[in-house]
Amino acid sequence: MTASAGQPRKLLPGRLVLASHNAGKLREFASLLAPYGLEVVSAKELGLPEPAETGTTFLDNARIKALAATQATGLPALADDSGCEVAALGGAPGVYTADWATQPDGSRDYGPAMERVWREANANPDRGCAFVATLVLAWPDGHTEGFEGRTEGQWTWPPRGAQGFGFDPIFVPDGETLTYAEMSMAEKARLSHRARAFRALAAACLG
Ligand code: IMP
Repeated sequence: MTASAGQPRKLLPGRLVLASHNAGKLREFASLLAPYGLEVVSAKELGLPEPAETGTTFLDNARIKALAATQATGLPALADDSGCEVAALGGAPGVYTADWATQPDGSRDYGPAMERVWREANANPDRGCAFVATLVLAWPDGHTEGFEGRTEGQWTWPPRGAQGFGFDPIFVPDGETLTYAEMSMAEKARLSHRARAFRALAAACLG
């Protein structure tokens, strides 16, 4: 998937803003981008505000975040919007995955969010769950390129593992026995939704 027609635009060597304040995503992107020799700085380090995610699709929200960061800095920006789609819940929480973890004071707590999946989906024998990540690269002139990655699997209960972030402890990708949270970052990068989207981006826009 590209968000523009024609040949994808190449990202030239230089500085790139990672348009995220999520420490888990930032760690994964730092590792994925390491081989490309880009100078990466995060929106969090630059003190950029987090724009409201008012879109109804992962692509809309990733575009909002990437455009806000590129316009604020004059540098190319990379944003990710991601979440999990639980089959028994008709694809929820989907684009609202982060909202399920958001507390009244604005902080995020994934324990109650994972428990909500268990509470609402447990009566249904269908444990199917997919993680989706949409990445958008945006340039200061408003040009964007978008890429999607998807990993199918099952949700499991109780949560297992202490690596990763977010809903990692309850997600087992198809063909695996470990949850994302029981995998090293390198193992997760072999099959994760974010890594798949990143590989599509790298093939089109890097190198
Ligand atoms: P976003 O910042 O709106 O994209 O929020 C994404 C939500 O999905 C957050 O709650 C994340 O914790 C969750 N999420 C996205 N990717 C992953 C992942 O790789 N593992 C676990 N949770 C994830």
